[in-house]
Amino acid sequence: MSTGLSDLYQEVILDHSRHPRNFGAGESANRQARGNNPLCGDRVTVYLAVDGEHINDARFNARGCAISIASASMMTEMIKGKTVAQAKSLFDRFHTLVASDAGESSEANGDSDEDMTELASLSGVRAFPTRIKCATLAWHAMSAALDGADDGVKTE
Ligand code: ZN
Repeated sequence: MSTGLSDLYQEVILDHSRHPRNFGAGESANRQARGNNPLCGDRVTVYLAVDGEHINDARFNARGCAISIASASMMTEMIKGKTVAQAKSLFDRFHTLVASDAGESSEANGDSDEDMTELASLSGVRAFPTRIKCATLAWHAMSAALDGADDGVKTE
């Protein structure tokens, strides 16, 4: 493992990947969507219990690398209890964080800085384009589930 890659596996990522939160299908879920990242072999299914604009529960099933599972685990913890609009806003900010060179512009909306601090642990993937897909896979599936689309999300 190169020194650069080892930066990806920070403590918070290892913790979430070894002990994923909200793992397993939710019985109360009324939305779900799958994601598939063929480059890495990651597969994730996101289950949401949505009541109007409110996300009451968020769970996931996944098989894949540590990055994809840790990101899904963090995501379900963060969006639970949020509104649909807040979850989508968080996805936008997370995507900017990991996919752009702009850096951690976590001052953007100011409504979830604790979340952005935790998500910053995943920002090391910026240096590894194929890993960005691992980190964002569950988020794309979550967004598709909120939109009511369960056609399966592909990162390609
Ligand atoms: Zn992966």
